[in-house]
Amino acid sequence: MDYEWNVAINKAIVNNAPKVEKILRENPYINDLAADLREKKLDVLNNIDRYIKQTEESVLRSGGGFHLARDSNDAIDIVRKIIGDKKNIVLSKSNVLYEIKLRETLASEGRDIWETDLGEYLVQINNDMPSHLIAPAIHLTKEKVGKILNENLDKSIDENSKTEDMVHSVREFLMKKYLAADVGITGANAVSADSGSVILVENEGNIRMDTVLPGIHIAITGIDKIVPTLKDAFNEAIVQAANAGFYPPTYINVSSGPSSTGDIELKKVTPATGPREFHLILVDNGRSDAIKSELMESLLCIRCGRCYFSCPAYRLYGKDFGTSPYTGPTGIMWSAIIFKEYDKSEMCMHSGGCGEVCPMKIPIPKIIEKIKFRYTG
Ligand code: SF4
Repeated sequence: MDYEWNVAINKAIVNNAPKVEKILRENPYINDLAADLREKKLDVLNNIDRYIKQTEESVLRSGGGFHLARDSNDAIDIVRKIIGDKKNIVLSKSNVLYEIKLRETLASEGRDIWETDLGEYLVQINNDMPSHLIAPAIHLTKEKVGKILNENLDKSIDENSKTEDMVHSVREFLMKKYLAADVGITGANAVSADSGSVILVENEGNIRMDTVLPGIHIAITGIDKIVPTLKDAFNEAIVQAANAGFYPPTYINVSSGPSSTGDIELKKVTPATGPREFHLILVDNGRSDAIKSELMESLLCIRCGRCYFSCPAYRLYGKDFGTSPYTGPTGIMWSAIIFKEYDKSEMCMHSGGCGEVCPMKIPIPKIIEKIKFRYTG
């Protein structure tokens, strides 16, 4: 990788790793939550059909639409049916949206579709791919961001601008897009089977806009994101945020069906101020096959991104270590599950650091070893 990558990744490691260690030291209950969450997620994986059925019933009960997509094409067809000819769409950061190639497909149909996470927005206007699960633009230095914004958004911004001014410039642009949007499409950190709720954790506030301002909210995520209860879903948000270095998270969003009110005689009426439609699309795309295989524990991943910063191969190869958006140690496992891409596992140096820091105690080095020796031939 180039000099710019070395600068960017070293800054990210220095900024992130000590912060996560401090959060976990000062809040020891988070490791207990993580241990409990691992058991709950294992239960879901071992009984996936039952939990999908329960999630469907819960979403329908709350007035939402439920859809199960076999693969990427199926997921995109479902989205097309929901949105019809609506053109203005805002997206929140989601690996599954990249996995199914949603943005490029809908953009090719002439729709005005925008990433609203700052990092994802930069990746979009730079015609790039994300390099990290939670920090998609981690490969871009501040100077590079200034140049990209100058060329694509705002001539008053350049390499020497303050970070605050860069963020302000993007915010001004995105505000117009939120207000014009017909449809908000998000991923999910967790989906609770008992209530059919989608939980999304964030700091920017963009997801709050994406899920509330447009008339239609569609959440698209993998079947692996189901947890048994709403309490487990909140716990996942806390464990994910802490291990990502953001604790407490600025926002935890809950969407359980379309907006509603009970303010007149306590009779529930929908919609109220927020979206009139809510849809959950659960994507399989190879996950149920993986559950039955030696890759099963990979599906416990909560996308905290912590394993990246303990990985010498990621440090060296960056987003080439994996198949974007699934990069880094977890990305090697997920590239195998989703894209049947096994060869990148050869780049792993087996330092073992990823497995040591993983809050879900996924035996990442062992799984990568299996991919390396059994799948690459
Ligand atoms: S594999 Fe573990 S450390 Fe890596 S992103 Fe997933 S949960 Fe986090």
